[in-house]
Amino acid sequence: MLKQRTLKTITRAVGVGLHSGQRVELTLRPAPADTGIVFRRVDLPEPVDIPISAHAITDTRMASTIGVGGAKVHTVEHLMSAIAGLGLDNLYIDITAEEVPILDGSSSSFVFLLQSAGIELQDAPKRFIRVKRPVEVREGEGKSLKWARFDPYHGFKLRFEIDFAHPAVDSTGQCVEFDLGEDNYVRDIARARTFGFTKDVEMLRTNGLALGGGLDNAIVMDDYKVLNSDGLRYDDEFAKHKILDAIGDLFVIGKPLLAAYSAFRSGHGMNNQLLRALLDQPDAWEIVTFENERLAPKGFAEPVRAW
Ligand SMILES: [Zn+2]
Repeated sequence: MLKQRTLKTITRAVGVGLHSGQRVELTLRPAPADTGIVFRRVDLPEPVDIPISAHAITDTRMASTIGVGGAKVHTVEHLMSAIAGLGLDNLYIDITAEEVPILDGSSSSFVFLLQSAGIELQDAPKRFIRVKRPVEVREGEGKSLKWARFDPYHGFKLRFEIDFAHPAVDSTGQCVEFDLGEDNYVRDIARARTFGFTKDVEMLRTNGLALGGGLDNAIVMDDYKVLNSDGLRYDDEFAKHKILDAIGDLFVIGKPLLAAYSAFRSGHGMNNQLLRALLDQPDAWEIVTFENERLAPKGFAEPVRAW
């Protein structure tokens, strides 16, 4: 049987929120089988649990926000991406403020944190959402066109194409493909950082956003070039970060997907629309488990992936 996974032990991180600039503590704890991923705001007078789900995403401007009632957690996508990249199913995430810490702007610090806690196999079948037919969302035309879609696939792969019309971005790889069965999340994707433009920073700060952002947790560009003195971590770091974000955005559905995802200029909002479009069509997907591990798609079957 292909089993669910949680952490072996508790692990902690401290950092600041990208948008709030607030100090925040994160405690990741093992959770029983079939719990899923549950954020817990432990700083509120009464702790509030916020289980991840496609419909719990309440805001997608700049980052993905998850909420229940008045309680919310902003910027969940990089942590969710690390959790999905390592194939974890069940986890409690205690958090002391309303935003996940940005750390270095990628998911590699979260990967390190999760790996150092160790991964435990649980005595319950890992449940997947298998996409049975194509589902697509699309917006705009010509220069403003963007779209995202799922196609059936025995595994999980993503293809993302960007188009920013910015000289520093245009000179890098514009299209990235990643297949969980062939490629290595930790090596190929996790280190790609978020990015921003100095011309937007002033506007963001006026709106109380990006207060914790800077050169040590983002790629920052003026109108022409990258300002970080060390340059880029990958030749195609921008498109890779969009893959990293998409892996996190899609995992809020609560279970790993068996699907091929492809997208052109998509973002947090459109990724969430795609999940909702899928869930709205019950004949387009089903829940599957693998009694025989050898029938499971590559990339999911290894009890602990080689990193
Ligand atoms: Zn991101």
